[in-house]
Amino acid sequence: MKYAESVVDLVGGTPLVKLNALTEGLAPLVLAKVEYVNPGGSVKDRIALKMIEAAEASGELQPGGTIVEPTSGNTGVGLALVAQQRGYKCIFVCPDKVSEDKRNVLRAYGAEVVVCPTAVAPDDPDSYYSVSDRLVRETPGAWKPDQYSNPNNPASHYASTGPEIWADTDGKITHFVAGVGTGGTISGTGRYLKEQSGGKVQVIGADPEGSVYSGGTGRPYLVEGVGEDFWPDAYDRDVADRIVPVSDAESFEVTRRLAREEGLLVGGSCGMAVAAALEVAKDLTADDVLVVLLPDGGRGYLSKIFSDSWMASYGFLARDDSATV
Ligand code: PMP
Repeated sequence: MKYAESVVDLVGGTPLVKLNALTEGLAPLVLAKVEYVNPGGSVKDRIALKMIEAAEASGELQPGGTIVEPTSGNTGVGLALVAQQRGYKCIFVCPDKVSEDKRNVLRAYGAEVVVCPTAVAPDDPDSYYSVSDRLVRETPGAWKPDQYSNPNNPASHYASTGPEIWADTDGKITHFVAGVGTGGTISGTGRYLKEQSGGKVQVIGADPEGSVYSGGTGRPYLVEGVGEDFWPDAYDRDVADRIVPVSDAESFEVTRRLAREEGLLVGGSCGMAVAAALEVAKDLTADDVLVVLLPDGGRGYLSKIFSDSWMASYGFLARDDSATV
């Protein structure tokens, strides 16, 4: 019989799929790494597992303890999965731009969700960073994984995401593209791929226009889970060879095309990463193999990116496209 001992054992080992329609006319092989097949539905299951295991080993997380984390949703789901298996409580702090659908997923796992305003500075007492710090101080047995500074965030990608991509491409990968949020994915995966290839693999970050990684100050953008208004410790500034800024409009257009033309119902940061990948692929040859990582699925965004009226309300759809609303 073939089965996993628990849901935690299903984390990682995600597949690569070739993009066909979106890459028409482009020379290189473009492969998408589909992270929504993780049991919690996103790439963040990987870091959740690694951060919890390390905290158990160090004694920072004790039996019956409470995990407190500022998260846009996906890290919370990963933490909730592992917490449920091991008897921990969870309190998650989210900015208000995170969709109600995503918050309800966290609540479905039995977690408590605290919502904070997006449009305040990180050091404001109401920011989701400040509120989570206060909850850690006030909750007995609390442990804050802090995906922004926890070295086990990039380490999980160095240990799993990178080796999976290297093995599945038989070491033929030449370019790796990923969106940058905490920076864990690009730093850990990118470092592993660079080491294995003797520095040959080019690592490209995709970033929402206005975020710090592409030279901005953190001007609000709508794509979720990526971009920052500060430089997290989880981001290794030495790994990315290039950062490609992508507008919300383009991120969402490509996200919708991924569903309609590739059958991949994925989130907005996936469209952003693929938009950057297509930009990079324009200059590549048939000998190149580009892997773009798709962090999560699209079901959490049905009332946003996949809603014609929501898209039209931000001017992201041409008049003709929104006529059916
Ligand atoms: N996309 C989504 C939907 C995410 O939740 C995250 C994590 N914040 C990312 C992309 C970026 O990944 P990382 O934090 O590893 O840079």
